Amino acid sequence: MIALQPRSLDEVLQSLEDDPALVPTAGCTDLMVRGPEALHEMDRVIDLLGVPELRGIQEVAGGLEIGATTSFSEIRRSAAVRAAFPALVAAASLVGGWQIQNRATLGGNMANASPAGDSLPVLLALDAVVVAAGARGLREIPYAGFHTGYRKTALRPGEIVARVRLPYLPEGSVQAFRKVGTREAQAISKVVVALAGRVAEGRIAELRLAAGSVAATPVRLRAAEEAVRGLSPGPAAADLAGRAAAREVTPIDDVRSTADYRRFALERVVRRLVLGMA
Ligand SMILES: Cc1cc2nc3c(=O)[nH]c(=O)nc-3n(C[C@H](O)[C@H](O)[C@H](O)COP(=O)(O)OP(=O)(O)OC[C@H]3O[C@@H](n4cnc5c(N)ncnc54)[C@H](O)[C@@H]3O)c2cc1C
Repeated sequence: MIALQPRSLDEVLQSLEDDPALVPTAGCTDLMVRGPEALHEMDRVIDLLGVPELRGIQEVAGGLEIGATTSFSEIRRSAAVRAAFPALVAAASLVGGWQIQNRATLGGNMANASPAGDSLPVLLALDAVVVAAGARGLREIPYAGFHTGYRKTALRPGEIVARVRLPYLPEGSVQAFRKVGTREAQAISKVVVALAGRVAEGRIAELRLAAGSVAATPVRLRAAEEAVRGLSPGPAAADLAGRAAAREVTPIDDVRSTADYRRFALERVVRRLVLGMA
């Protein structure tokens, strides 16, 4: 295996232009558990961890940008992320254990595109924008269009995730995150839900709900959002949102859970998160 170790984004882009089939690697917490056959197919990899432009958390006009190779531990520790995006911190705190959080990157979670990826519904609920980098430069992809199918993304051959931009939410907004797994810690999710919303003058004025592990990609729960927009937050609205969410998803049975349990858990979690807006 040939492993390129570029030291700048320009070097990465040049290498990807020369060979768009290069496999980007970051924390390798997904790549290294893919099994020997998959690993043997990776003749040439490009290690992104030594590229300063892909790392760290920066304030930009109207939001924060998080570099693709920023680890979940760095996200947990960041005062800026904790202040503005507690739902992302909550998700980061539940990705595997500490050892995984020290290695695993946000960009790797996104690009790996597992429907169970914990950060994915959060990025969707926060209306994130992906900044992709390729030989033709940078381009922006709204997060809602990033996951195009089961384990598929809108990245083109030779493109990588460079960073993700999170727009600040309006004053008075609330955020929430909940993951249901087989146990409290170190579990891959059966259902994962994120909420971003705002109550104004006693009514739910804005609401974005997103869920993972209930479809081939993370999904916005638009029927649930619509069901309660304009209502007073409380048990009645929470019930409506939960029931609408359970109706609008088509989960599958797999090794981690049954479709029925996922639908049941989604209803309860959405209900609880919407109730939390009251
Ligand atoms: C024990 C264990 C527990 C885990 N628990 C969880 C969990 O609870 N929740 C969860 O969501 N995940 C979990 N994971 C999965 C994994 O840790 C995360 O998905 C992690 O964020 C992947 O990041 P990484 O940097 O290790 O990616 P890598 O393994 O380096 O890469 C993953 C994929 O993304 C591609 N890639 C990486 N970076 C980029 C980039 N910048 N641009 C384009 N492509 C890129 C790679 O080519 C590869 O296809 C767990 C993994 C393990 C081994």
